[in-house]
Amino acid sequence: MLTFQSYTAENIQQLPQYDTIPPEQLHAIKVVAEVYPFRVNSHVAENLIDWSNIPDDPMFRLSFPQAGMLSGEDFRTISDLVLSDADSQLIRQEARKIQLRQNPNPAGQMELNTPRLDGEPLHGMQHKYRESVLFFPLEAQVCHAYCTYCFRWPQFSGLESLKFANESVDKLIDYLRSHPEVKDVIFTGGDPMVMSTELIEKYMRPLLDVPTLRTIRIGTKSLSWWPGRFTTDSDADQLIRFFEEVVTSGKHLAIMAHMSHPREIDNPEAVDAVRRIRSTGAVIRSQSPVVRHVNDDSEVWEEMWQKQVQLGVIPYYMFLERDTGPKHYFEVPLAEALDIYNGAYRQMSGLGRTVRGPSMSCSPGKVIVEDVTEINDEKLFVLKFTQGRNPEWTNKTFLASYDDSASWIDDLTPAFGDENFFFEPELRRMYGS
Ligand SMILES: *Cc1c(COP(=O)(O)O)cnc(C)c1O
Ligand code: SF4
Repeated sequence: MLTFQSYTAENIQQLPQYDTIPPEQLHAIKVVAEVYPFRVNSHVAENLIDWSNIPDDPMFRLSFPQAGMLSGEDFRTISDLVLSDADSQLIRQEARKIQLRQNPNPAGQMELNTPRLDGEPLHGMQHKYRESVLFFPLEAQVCHAYCTYCFRWPQFSGLESLKFANESVDKLIDYLRSHPEVKDVIFTGGDPMVMSTELIEKYMRPLLDVPTLRTIRIGTKSLSWWPGRFTTDSDADQLIRFFEEVVTSGKHLAIMAHMSHPREIDNPEAVDAVRRIRSTGAVIRSQSPVVRHVNDDSEVWEEMWQKQVQLGVIPYYMFLERDTGPKHYFEVPLAEALDIYNGAYRQMSGLGRTVRGPSMSCSPGKVIVEDVTEINDEKLFVLKFTQGRNPEWTNKTFLASYDDSASWIDDLTPAFGDENFFFEPELRRMYGS
């Protein structure tokens, strides 16, 4: 049994595989970790990374900072400071300037999604879609390891003003009681599973008494980053008993597992954890972005989804990388993502076609790239809302001019020379402009 040992730029020398990392890669890790979060742990290092294949190994690219995540100029700025042993204060200042240029608050999350109760903003909560509320527990603002492509990177980078965090479960309950249309509470972070079972119970048990609530979801990458959370941690048994209690109370407990690569569940630790969670009656669904250098290959997705279905994990979403942070390094254009998606989707039986994607979580809603088609000689993307900031947009399709290199909705223009997508005038009114 592995004990949890975490490694950051500060103690990377203690990593057992330290000597296998080439010096220029070590330097890149040090430089990039000044700007983006970096943390791995003993399970990631021992069981997930193929050290004979670094730096190309997808699990290495997923967890260790890469030079390409910074622009050449930004990399040189920090690299020069690091090499000249500059004052850490100065390095932090330069890193902060770079961070603030990387769109740290995409899709208007701060401005438009913060709910209010009696006029008071509820920080650490987001209510964007009618049926579900996101809750960010204060103690869940870390992860067992960090993904290099993380879209929540500002939460871990000391950008305090861009942190979502709340410790008041009472406010959440009050909000749910005055919003009976909310059926799902989604615990997210960071990773809520970094919390002790005692804390998890503090946040979740009061929800069992809200009759209008149907589902508790937990967004987590712990099945991948630290499966021992469900099996060998000292309070794992207590956690499993609590999951049983949630299910017995009549609520649906949904573990929304972030899984980027088949290797994350192709190990006995993760398989045990899946089995244990499922034995409680909780359901595990999987979601992940499609990301260059990590899983930009339909065979990788097919293998992952087949394994998931075999283990009883339900494929749920394939996302596109959000427009923030090191997106230029990880992005996959919409057209290519659709090919990757279809290449894998078409190999699945119906039981695996529960998945939806590739999906953009953007300001108007969740928008799926459905298809590429041609009408009157114009090549087009067919797009579809699976969630709308206005619920009336949900399940509506719309068309955009085809663009090989477009990687986000902002890169698209409406089909047939139209000035606006159908939702844009209303979206602008919501923004008050
Ligand atoms: C994705 C998301 C949800 C959940 O959407 P589902 O389609 O129900 O899984 C809820 N709130 C926000 C802000 C989201 O981005
Ligand atoms: S697990 Fe999620 S929140 Fe944590 S680093 Fe990865 S993407 Fe970010």
